[in-house]
Amino acid sequence: MNYIDQDYDKLIKIIILGDSCIGKSSLCNSLSGINFQHSYVSTLGVDFFCLYYKNNSKTFKLQIWDTAGQERFNSIISSYFRGAHLAILMIDNSNYKSFIRMNYWLKQIDNYAKKDIKIMCLINKTDLEAGIDRQEIIDKMNSIKLPFLFISVKENKNINSIYDLIYSQIKDLPIEEPKKDKIIKVNKNDKKCCLIM
Ligand code: GDP
Ligand code: MG
Repeated sequence: MNYIDQDYDKLIKIIILGDSCIGKSSLCNSLSGINFQHSYVSTLGVDFFCLYYKNNSKTFKLQIWDTAGQERFNSIISSYFRGAHLAILMIDNSNYKSFIRMNYWLKQIDNYAKKDIKIMCLINKTDLEAGIDRQEIIDKMNSIKLPFLFISVKENKNINSIYDLIYSQIKDLPIEEPKKDKIIKVNKNDKKCCLIM
């Protein structure tokens, strides 16, 4: 992972998903600590930060989105999913319920994300006593063909491998260059506009 100033070849939107308290924001802090560019909190209650990843002479700008806790109320807005190229689904290795809830998150992805979105899974908190049988996790991931990693954000375990897994998911994506926002007038008399992203 190299830090490069503004220039990039491809912009990749990555969304982090999963129940509250499984370590999503901790992961973002950990990742952003390496090549932190900026953090942004919008009025929509979404945090994101950017990392630059250079490989084979191509520079990827990874725009990583984290919720600001809305998952607690099952109220993640659909724009969170819009345009995402990769979803990182997290579960908590010490909490069986978070494993069961994977199905809910996969359904949300199916409902709101692009059909060709890539998905990978991180099983966090491996430093704690396991609440899920490891083989059960492996069988599930294989059955739904999700690439996955066991990690511990707290102990910094396998964090570097996350970049490799992200890269393996995004490297072949045909991604259009970032578009400019377009403003169009909806109605001449009524001076409202809408913003097309
Ligand atoms: P989020 O709600 O999914 O964003 O979860 P947070 O990042 O806020 O983390 C919830 C709690 O889990 C916090 O107390 C973290 O310190 C803790 N936590 C995060 N990652 C780990 C981990 O790998 N191991 C342990 N033991 N605790 C963790
Ligand atoms: Mg959080």
